[in-house]
Amino acid sequence: MGILADRESRLLIDGELVAGSGGTFQTINPATEEVLGVAADASTDDMGRAIEAARRAFDETEWSTDTELRVRGIRQLQQAMRDRAEELRELAISEVGAPRMLTSMAQLEGPVEDLTFCADTAEGYQWTTDLGIAEPMGIKTRRTIAREAIGVVGAITPWNFPNQINLAKLGPALAAGNTVVLKPAPDTPWSAAILGELILEHTDIPAGVVNIVTSSDHGVGALLSKDPRVDMVSFTGSTNTGRAVMADGAPTLKKVFLELGGKSAFLVLDDADLAGACSMSAFTASMHAGQGCAITTRLVVPRARYDEAVEAAAATMAGLRPGDPNDSGTICGPVISERQRDRIQGYLDSATAEGGKFACGGGRPADRDKGFFIEPTVIAGLDNNAKVAREEIFGPVLTVIAHDGDDDAVRIANDSPYGLSGTVFSADEERAAGIAARLRVGTVNVNGGVWYSADMPFGGYKQSGLGREMGLAGFEEYLEIKAIATAV
Ligand code: NAD
Repeated sequence: MGILADRESRLLIDGELVAGSGGTFQTINPATEEVLGVAADASTDDMGRAIEAARRAFDETEWSTDTELRVRGIRQLQQAMRDRAEELRELAISEVGAPRMLTSMAQLEGPVEDLTFCADTAEGYQWTTDLGIAEPMGIKTRRTIAREAIGVVGAITPWNFPNQINLAKLGPALAAGNTVVLKPAPDTPWSAAILGELILEHTDIPAGVVNIVTSSDHGVGALLSKDPRVDMVSFTGSTNTGRAVMADGAPTLKKVFLELGGKSAFLVLDDADLAGACSMSAFTASMHAGQGCAITTRLVVPRARYDEAVEAAAATMAGLRPGDPNDSGTICGPVISERQRDRIQGYLDSATAEGGKFACGGGRPADRDKGFFIEPTVIAGLDNNAKVAREEIFGPVLTVIAHDGDDDAVRIANDSPYGLSGTVFSADEERAAGIAARLRVGTVNVNGGVWYSADMPFGGYKQSGLGREMGLAGFEEYLEIKAIATAV
């Protein structure tokens, strides 16, 4: 059955596709505002059954110790996604509003191919380490370190890059031997539900190992943080929700892994190609309508060339009209919902109220009366204390801020509650590296380098999160360490 023709997605619980006890909820195309169809609306009881299934599959099957089965299951899921790539592409475009161009990268094919890293890592991993014999406290002892799956993982994900984030949790969690309950965002249920269908139909992954629970009610996801049967919550979303997840997890002291918001800075040093750097900054801030946690949304430029920088950024953004995500030339599609569009508009209003000026954009595009579109916008005339410089907007909005030299640029970049990412542009690579070393962030792009890849860890300092996703570090987040001492 075609993915888009399948207009009522199901939950995957204990190896069966089932309806939600709460009925269904709609999934909307953000570019047209049309209802695409419906998804199963899980109740708290459904979530309870999914957690129970994951618990049983972890405690009573060989899943956590059968590495060969896990590697096979992950590769089968990857192949099934490759085989259905064109349908999945249409799904990402219609449900997420993902520009077609980005589906060959992080919106679809990137994360599908990244599953290779997860399977290869599990296959080649050193699950035990022999530390040899020693005589601690005078007792001759053979010491071994074993690495084991944590248990039941609750994965809670947002809507902006659902394929990337769902797979960046499922892949390593399964590779490490855990069982999973995945609870996607209510805005993008189908991107997750289809994984349930593919797992059931095309893989040897046993019943209960993966459960997929879509719901319109955020409270259903909150059960994952609270339930004592869940050993770890892997969450990606806003910093505020991350705090709630952490607080909900505290009574049972479960491991909480958080990928949260950002307000990253793009630093242009005084020896850099100013126009080229500002243009690149404007382009990245417009991609997927700015709905990326690691997008650099503060452009920090030498004060003496401030006007020139604003002009260069605005010239690029003015050329990136928000468009139909189906068109292969579109880079800036819609934002996910009316609520998000209104939220962004609120930030734009705050910028003018604080004395800022729009060098381009500033609201909804006049030529689009349907769809949740916002014009790529450059804000000038504000400093790093402005609301738009401090808070995550999650729209195609770039605030240009003046700096007075390298130290000041670093100070501005780090003067943020967030610490997810950053960019440095300089003609002198060594100087740029020195600045990169001083940034309190989890990923840094120097002169256009790309940190996004399967073997690179991704995550944030400060209030951007706890832990790392992807890479070996991302795999090991899902492991416990056991020290075994045998008297000899
Ligand atoms: P959100 O925090 O509103 O929701 C994320 C998920 O949490 C959804 O599935 C939602 O249903 C669920 N949720 C909501 N309240 C909950 C609660 N109390 N307990 C448990 N789950 C709950 O975020 P969003 O608006 O869907 O996504 C945008 C945010 O995600 C942005 O802040 C963005 O920066 C962040 N994000 C971070 C990364 C990263 O890796 N750091 C990646 C992508 C997005």
